[in-house]
Amino acid sequence: VLEIRGLHKSYGDLEVIKGVDITAKRGDVVSLIGSSGSGKSTLLRCCNLLEDSQQGDILFKSEPISWRGAGLSRQPADAKQVLRIRTNLSMVFQQFNLWSHMTILQNVMEAPLTVLKRDRDEVEASARKYLDQVGIGDKCDAFPAQLSGGQQQRAAIARALCMEPEALLFDEPTSALDPELEQEVVKVIKDLASEGRTMLIVTHDMRMAADVSDHIVFLHKGLIEEEGCPDEIFGNTRSERLRAFLSSTR
Ligand code: ATP
Ligand code: MG
Repeated sequence: VLEIRGLHKSYGDLEVIKGVDITAKRGDVVSLIGSSGSGKSTLLRCCNLLEDSQQGDILFKSEPISWRGAGLSRQPADAKQVLRIRTNLSMVFQQFNLWSHMTILQNVMEAPLTVLKRDRDEVEASARKYLDQVGIGDKCDAFPAQLSGGQQQRAAIARALCMEPEALLFDEPTSALDPELEQEVVKVIKDLASEGRTMLIVTHDMRMAADVSDHIVFLHKGLIEEEGCPDEIFGNTRSERLRAFLSSTR
C-alpha cells in the first residue's frame, strides 16, 4: 500500500532523512522507533504531504506522490491527489487535535461530511459505530475538554477511522498520556492490528511495538540503523546503537 524509496528530506541545510526505504503491504503494522530528532515525525509528515522531500519516492498504492515549484512556491502537484492521500492515509497525532468547539460526534463526522460530502445519516451511523468500537460511545455529546486524555485520543482514532482510510499513520499516539490512560489507547491500537488494518506507527512504547508490529524500523539520525521483526529487534539486537537506545527506554 505504502512504499518509501530512497527518501531524502532537508530543512534548509539540515538533512534529516538521508535515504530511507520502508514498505508497508496491506495488513502490515510497521513501527518506527528511534531517539528524539531521528526524523520519525518528518517521515510520517512526508507520507501525508505535510512536508515535501528533495529526493526519492513515496508511492501510495503504486501512485507516486508529486510536488512542483521551488522555495516558498513549492506545493503538491495535484490537489486531488492531496485529498485522495489524506483521506486514505488518516493520521493520528500526539496532541489529539480535536476541535474544542465541537462535540465528540461532530468532530468525528466533520471531515466525512465536509471533505468527502457523504450522506449525513450514513456518516452519523458510522461515527457512532467507531466511537463504540474505541469504547466511548457514551461520550458523543460531550466536548473534548470534558474527556480524559485517553478518551480524547480514542475520539481522534474514531475520527481517523470514520474516513474509511486504507491505512493509518500514528505519531506517538500515547506519549501525551499518563501511563494508565496510555493502556486504553494501546488496547484500541491492538484491536485495530488484529482487524488487519495497515498502520505505520511512530512510538516510544516498546512493549506495544513488540506486540503489534510485523516489522520494526529503528531510525538513527535520518538513516535506518536496524530493522526486522520484533524477535530480531528485541531478542537478537545486532546494532550497538539500537542496544543503547533500547536500554535507555527501559
Ligand atoms: P521526536 O521523537 O522528538 O518527536 P522525531 O524523530 O519525530 O523526534 P523530527 O520531528 O522528525 O524528529 O525531527 C527531525 C529533525 O528535523 C530534528 O533535528 C528537528 O529539529 C528538525 N526539524 C523538524 N521539523 C522542522 C522544521 N519545520 N524546520 C526545521 N527543522 C525541523
Ligand atoms: Mg516526532
